[in-house]
Amino acid sequence: MPFRERYTGLINRYRDHLPVSDDTRIISLGEGNTPLIRLKNIPQMLGKDVDIYVKYEGLNPTGSFKDRGMTMAVTKAVEEGSNAIICASTGNTSAAAAAYAARAGITAFVLIPEGKIAMGKLAQAMMYGAVTIQIRGNFDEGMELVKQVAEQAPVTIVNSVNPYRLQGQKTAAFEIVEELGRAPDYHCLPVGNAGNITAHWIGYCEYSAQKGTRVTESCAFCDGNCRYAGGPVIGSRPVMIGYQAAGSAPFVRGEAVKNPDTVATAIRIGNPQSWDRAWKVKEESGGWFDELSDADILAAQKLLAQREGIFCEPASAASIGGVMRDVQSGRIPEGSTIVCTLTGNGLKDPDTAIKQCGDSRMVTIDANLASVKDAILGIL
Ligand SMILES: *Cc1c(COP(=O)(O)O)cnc(C)c1O
Repeated sequence: MPFRERYTGLINRYRDHLPVSDDTRIISLGEGNTPLIRLKNIPQMLGKDVDIYVKYEGLNPTGSFKDRGMTMAVTKAVEEGSNAIICASTGNTSAAAAAYAARAGITAFVLIPEGKIAMGKLAQAMMYGAVTIQIRGNFDEGMELVKQVAEQAPVTIVNSVNPYRLQGQKTAAFEIVEELGRAPDYHCLPVGNAGNITAHWIGYCEYSAQKGTRVTESCAFCDGNCRYAGGPVIGSRPVMIGYQAAGSAPFVRGEAVKNPDTVATAIRIGNPQSWDRAWKVKEESGGWFDELSDADILAAQKLLAQREGIFCEPASAASIGGVMRDVQSGRIPEGSTIVCTLTGNGLKDPDTAIKQCGDSRMVTIDANLASVKDAILGIL
């Protein structure tokens, strides 16, 4: 007898809230169930009375929240008889698609923008055995091509336009509510295609509503009679805040951005696929969108690593940088409980990390005791 039930992934955990049946063959790598870590030093630095938690999605099996959506999307693709999946990706979707396809024994095709995905993500797509198609173009162009080719070839799209993706991703909100015993006051995320902010909102709405009601207009499955609603805490939902990179901020501009650019490659998207849904999230939750410069994003990434011991990728740090600014200004009031989603693991993008640590404390010395001693005593 095991001491406690073995965790076997989010579909098994939240079966009653997801579009699966008892006969569904589940494709899982044990995704979900990620730590919710309470920050200690950054709130103190801000000098404000706020509780900030980070949901460390970088600890999913392929190192990003995309696994939550991909376990659902691939499970349903296989259930529906598909032998191949396809996605356009800034990197993490391709890593997740490749891994879950490998697990399922089907083929993954991934379209990535040449030269614009982080090294770790490229390594993953190749290692998991996806057919990796680099395009001389950006994510938005890749996305359009994927939608067109899926009409002419027997491949299932597993980008977040696939509604099962958001169904899987909504479970992050369930986990947060269960752990806090309520929804946070504010939930902050980096926004690219805007699937994840929408998925979280669906999750919070369902968990705070009675079964059989309309929970949110943002949900593709909501017909006014939600089958998946009903959670442990009724009537508790956060304000949703989406942060974008300034060079890639269509929600802040109010229109698509032609040539998006940012060091945070995971959110280098100018034409978000969940445009309408994400606006509804903002309206229904009373939230907002805002932008950060690349410098602010990188500073937040480094601060989180050096003050809290948590290494996320640049895109993920947008939520930390944004929260710091909004807490400082009082837009997020004192007394608030805040959750930031750390969407991906810092190890995904070692190049950007090393580059911005040029001023680091690395020294090179001869291999003898005196030199090591000098190096240490010079710092202490
Ligand atoms: C995909 C991704 C995002 C953006 O999520 P959307 O659902 O496209 O808004 C942010 N950060 C990381 C690390 C990602 O992989």
